[in-house]
Amino acid sequence: MVGDTPTLLILEAAFLGARRFDDFWRETGLLKALLSDRLKKLVEAGVLEKAQYHERPPRYRYRLTQKGREVYPVALALLQWEKDCGDHAAGARTIRLTHKTCGMEFRAVAACGGCQGDVDATNVDWLEGPGVGWMAPLYSRRRQLREQVGDGSLLFREAAQLMGDRWASLILRSIFTGIRSFDGIRADTAMATNILSERLHWLATRGVIRQAAVIGQPGRNEYRLTRKGVAYYPALLMLLVWGDRYYVSPEGPPLLLTHKACGAVLKPEIVCSHCRAPLDAGDVEFVLEPIPTDLAEAV
Ligand SMILES: [Zn+2]
Ligand SMILES: [Zn+2]
Repeated sequence: MVGDTPTLLILEAAFLGARRFDDFWRETGLLKALLSDRLKKLVEAGVLEKAQYHERPPRYRYRLTQKGREVYPVALALLQWEKDCGDHAAGARTIRLTHKTCGMEFRAVAACGGCQGDVDATNVDWLEGPGVGWMAPLYSRRRQLREQVGDGSLLFREAAQLMGDRWASLILRSIFTGIRSFDGIRADTAMATNILSERLHWLATRGVIRQAAVIGQPGRNEYRLTRKGVAYYPALLMLLVWGDRYYVSPEGPPLLLTHKACGAVLKPEIVCSHCRAPLDAGDVEFVLEPIPTDLAEAV
């Protein structure tokens, strides 16, 4: 559900303070019919709640529920990634994040809930859990919507494209677990060869992965994460964790994550880089600002 591009844009707008239909419409740039449909689905999914605030004509306001607020770490991780690595077109906006609790401008970083140490792609072990077979139908229900996002003013432009593409998410999940060969990724994701080739190419053109020769094995290639790809890890991790909490299979979680640094089952959190406190909606002040034109052109 959250992996759907329009949904991400709506959540972003909600975190930034949008409440009424027109606010969402202005912030997301989505077509009204599509926006109505996704707002309705978010209400049905228990992420937003809808309340009437004006009787005649009837007008409604949308608010994040508890479940909706728990998507917040995913959104923060995405924001940070977009800020660090996004494809900044001219006229795009960036965001300055201030942690109200400590008063400092901060970076949103992933940390282990057990030992408070950093979490990244190199220090997490992934094991398939009892419910792993359940993930496939969840992914296949998503529709591909990456082409629908084109408004340069959106913060989540690139992150939303990436996360909104179910195949791209599956490929990255494989690569994050250490699978690097074409055949290995194909076996892990159960994707058709032509779709896999096309998506690998797309991820490479976005600068998220790159192809590299396997040392000592002439003629063989593998896929590696770029710096930008590595930086995407916390967002994907937080999305998986959120999904596991609300879309649990009867057999158990699909993935078991261990933090190598402390050996404990990983409960990742998004924390303030300055004071290391976990971040909740309401703790963070957002200031939107345009990206300086010279920087936008240089990137
Ligand atoms: Zn740990
Ligand atoms: Zn802080």
